[in-house]
Amino acid sequence: MIGIDGHVHPEVETVNPYRPHRARITSIVDLTDNEKLFELRLIDEESRAEFSHSAGQFVEVSIFGVGEAPISISSAPSKQGFIELCVRRAGDVTGALHDMRCGDIIGIRGPFGRGFPFEQMKGSDVLLVAGGLGIAPLKSLINHIHDERHAFGNVTILYGSRTPSEILFRRQFEMWQHRDDFDMVLTVDQADETWTGEVGLVTKLFDRIDVDPSNTYGAICGPPVMYKYVIAEMRKKSIDADRIYVSFERRMKCGVGKCGHCGVGHQYACVDGPVFNYWEAMNLQEAI
Ligand SMILES: Cc1cc2nc3c(=O)[nH]c(=O)nc-3n(C[C@H](O)[C@H](O)[C@H](O)COP(=O)(O)OP(=O)(O)OC[C@H]3O[C@@H](n4cnc5c(N)ncnc54)[C@H](O)[C@@H]3O)c2cc1C
Repeated sequence: MIGIDGHVHPEVETVNPYRPHRARITSIVDLTDNEKLFELRLIDEESRAEFSHSAGQFVEVSIFGVGEAPISISSAPSKQGFIELCVRRAGDVTGALHDMRCGDIIGIRGPFGRGFPFEQMKGSDVLLVAGGLGIAPLKSLINHIHDERHAFGNVTILYGSRTPSEILFRRQFEMWQHRDDFDMVLTVDQADETWTGEVGLVTKLFDRIDVDPSNTYGAICGPPVMYKYVIAEMRKKSIDADRIYVSFERRMKCGVGKCGHCGVGHQYACVDGPVFNYWEAMNLQEAI
């Protein structure tokens, strides 16, 4: 096919971005009262072998007869043959998914969008900051860095949750707080009797970290209100705007830049994002 740029695009003939792949649910883990971790395996062998993603990309999940929802891939790109999705029960599609069982079949379109610049980040320190469900896309990046740990400098993860019971991947992350190769700090807005760690907003944790601004990338994902404050803390640590990456959640439908639902300024979060660097985001109207 000849595209509007006048070039021949043979891939357009073969890939239909609207056609979902059938995928089987192979494992379901309850993470909290509202979030589950689903492991999925594409049924078609060829599609499974060809499927690859970068950390920060998302898929459109379809529950037949209900609808579609964009969900970030939480597993590392290096995990071949399966993908993991961490899903909060929010409404029709995510509710129907939560009611499904191992062995059930769903649809997957994608992966879509632009993820974190993993290759570019190599050789640098990385500071990852997540709030609540924002850990879902960052988990893919964390897992990918873990797989190639030797390629990175210091890796610091700051993760804030409202309460201890809402911390996603709590057991794993509590163990990671004792690792030497990752500096992981968890904090909650409100403690309970099980909590002996930090209390306060994730921004409070910046007081206890050292950053080498000339050699650090920042990656942020969380509720909309969090971005402004976390970016301000990273800027106070003198991290350049074009080294701070933010993942935006916008309501989206098609995932391929056609329907216009996910406009951020003059760009679309589904194809130009969902990951933007702060330098780009500053120039996008109403991005932050
Ligand atoms: C790029 C991207 C990645 C995402 N990754 C994840 C993920 O990893 N895990 C996860 O659990 N969720 C994720 N989400 C959010 C998820 O897509 C929505 O929760 C889901 O679309 C809700 O669909 P539903 O049919 O279950 O709910 P609906 O029945 O459509 O809606 C339920 C309620 O949620 C509101 N809502 C729907 N979509 C959004 C949205 N995008 N932002 C704010 N409010 C919304 C509706 O207005 C309504 O009040 C992501 C969204 C985007 C855009």
